[in-house]
Amino acid sequence: MKVLLLGGTGEARELAKVLVEAGVDAVSSLAGRTTDARLPVGRVRSGGFGGADGLAGWLRAHPVDAVVDATHPFAARMTANAAAAATSVDVPLLVLRRPGWTASPGDHWHWCDAPEDAAARLPSLGSRAFLTIGRQGLDTFENAGIWMLARCVDPPEPRPAWCELILACGPFALSDELAVMRDHTIDVLVTKDSGGPQTSAKLAAARELGLPVLIIRRPPLPAGPETVESVDEAVQWVMRASHSSST
Ligand code: NAP
Repeated sequence: MKVLLLGGTGEARELAKVLVEAGVDAVSSLAGRTTDARLPVGRVRSGGFGGADGLAGWLRAHPVDAVVDATHPFAARMTANAAAAATSVDVPLLVLRRPGWTASPGDHWHWCDAPEDAAARLPSLGSRAFLTIGRQGLDTFENAGIWMLARCVDPPEPRPAWCELILACGPFALSDELAVMRDHTIDVLVTKDSGGPQTSAKLAAARELGLPVLIIRRPPLPAGPETVESVDEAVQWVMRASHSSST
């Protein structure tokens, strides 16, 4: 059983470990843009494929029994390319997406459709913002007209002069998030609906401090591929695909 695992997330690393330990020949694919990428267990390839056609070409040259797209919920281009390539090569595709976050009592969340929407609404909610959306889409906030602190894993290029920058990689503890927000007198948080426990402490911190949160909705999933929310379900799907490919 050979599987191409589109990764770049904790779930993808977890899935690679379970599959390799179960004897599956899993090749993890990474975009290769993060300097300290934590490598998954098993075989790894790195770098873009060259769009949907490039991925289809890769799949023809390296036949696999199944593809699992375990990329980040906001990696919409890779997810769309995987759906198109899997259809054109006729290989089973599963999308593994962790559930999004849901508000708890005491939260003041404002849902936005895109970073542009969040940037336009930001000045009406606060004057000192904590941007936790990564480096992609950061430029959208340049002219929001308020003081901003941005947190990214790698520095944006060029380094923005219009905000303060913290370089840090999760997971983040509640005490650390409270300290960052208090130290910088943050009065509004901006985030994407990434979901998962690794980066959710900022939401608990905002709740505790009574701060409003601008939360950017996920891009829609392509119609067609089966979708699961947990690594366990993805393992079961791969094992079922393994049975069908061997019969
Ligand atoms: P994206 O916008 O959907 O993808 C941009 C391009 O990067 C794709 O078209 C593809 O290039 C290449 N790419 C993306 N993921 C790849 C993978 N796993 N293997 C090989 N090539 C890949 O994705 P993104 O938002 O830039 O994210 C890039 C990677 O970082 C993803 O693997 C994702 O899981 C991870 N990540 C993203 C975020 C986020 O907030 N977006 C957060 C944490 C981790 P080609 O078209 O040339 O094939």
